[in-house]
Amino acid sequence: MKQCPECLKDYEPDFPERREGAEPYQNEQHKIGYCSDKCFDEAISGHRPEYTYDERGRRFENGVRKLFADPPR
Ligand SMILES: [Zn+2]
Repeated sequence: MKQCPECLKDYEPDFPERREGAEPYQNEQHKIGYCSDKCFDEAISGHRPEYTYDERGRRFENGVRKLFADPPR
């Protein structure tokens, strides 16, 4: 189990370790430990009204999956 430093939720990473082909947030779970794109953005990238998130906190822009946040303004 890991604890997200942003939302403080205890969670099980999607994969047991970093791996090729995983989405960036799935590897991020094994770095600083943010559980989702949403928590990463809240902590690092800042609020972006153009981004939306699904129930798992995955980032979308205009309905298209967005793997990488734009740099902080
Ligand atoms: Zn979180």
